[in-house]
Amino acid sequence: MALSVHDFQIAIICALKVECDAVQAVFDGFLEEHGDPPTMIRKAQWDTNVYTTGKIGHHNVVLAHMANYGIGNSAGVAANLRHTFPDIRVAFVVGVCGGMPKNKTADIMLGDVIISTEMVEYGLGRQMTHGLRPTNPLGSRPNTELRGYLNKMQGQWDMFRLQERAIKYLASPSLIPGQTKPEHPGMDKDNLFVSTHRHKHHEKGVCESRDKCVHDNDIPCVASETLDCATLGCHELVNRQPREFPTQPQVHFGKFGSADKVMKSSTERDRLAREYSLIALEMEGAGVWEKIPCFIIKGVCNYSDSHNNKNWQPYAAATAASYFKAFLVPWREVIINPKIVEIPGK
Ligand SMILES: [Zn+2]
Ligand SMILES: [Zn+2]
Repeated sequence: MALSVHDFQIAIICALKVECDAVQAVFDGFLEEHGDPPTMIRKAQWDTNVYTTGKIGHHNVVLAHMANYGIGNSAGVAANLRHTFPDIRVAFVVGVCGGMPKNKTADIMLGDVIISTEMVEYGLGRQMTHGLRPTNPLGSRPNTELRGYLNKMQGQWDMFRLQERAIKYLASPSLIPGQTKPEHPGMDKDNLFVSTHRHKHHEKGVCESRDKCVHDNDIPCVASETLDCATLGCHELVNRQPREFPTQPQVHFGKFGSADKVMKSSTERDRLAREYSLIALEMEGAGVWEKIPCFIIKGVCNYSDSHNNKNWQPYAAATAASYFKAFLVPWREVIINPKIVEIPGK
């Protein structure tokens, strides 16, 4: 029995290859490979999306692979998804994000996971002298069904089980023979720099700008953007209490900022966190939010500052995918005509 497009109520949208890989690593099986005949989705005319179908727990899920990141791209992908899969009830935007370490509620560290309770499209608005004022600074809440689910999952019992499941999925071995899953890079690689400490040359005599970028308030030279913190000698770290169990990522529920920009300014980051109560920034959620009821679940791979690099992306994508699965498993579908494909060994 092959599945049809009407047998899918859960969609996942990922922008980066590392995010798609992490999500597929938590699938219990691939529907393209199971069933008799295996599932072969016929896309709606003009749907240019690329899909992978799979099973997670009792859910049939469809993963849409984006060709490029950003809000415009994710909006297009979400619109196409609805054409081919008319019964999708919830979309999960899963991947990596920038954390806001100076927020009012949580102590966020690299590898932690943020689940959206609200979203502010902070790049859409009026440009003032003192910064951009978003059109909707209060942000958008999800619908009542999703808000109810968020309330349930933040309750004491569900939260305990959510974390327990996520850590189990994170520790489970890769299904690709010979491959190990991404590991925590180490607490000594989780460097939060003081907001005023810029990513640039700090020593005299090494910068080609003839030392125009060595003082604290100097504009960083272009060459420094491609060098890492160790080479440049970035050193003013925020003194933080290390985690007792660093390989057990924590989950934080809160408000995402979404825009078409990679945030590399710690002063702008802190302003956004302060003024709009944001705890993370990302680049796809706003495109999906208005089209399909949506949760954003993302792992923190940097602190949205000029020191950021891509070293934490694979691990943060893996923690996000593990929490996504842990969050999805108790979700109940509206069963109209359930078709189940048995996957051997599951
Ligand atoms: Zn320089
Ligand atoms: Zn740096």
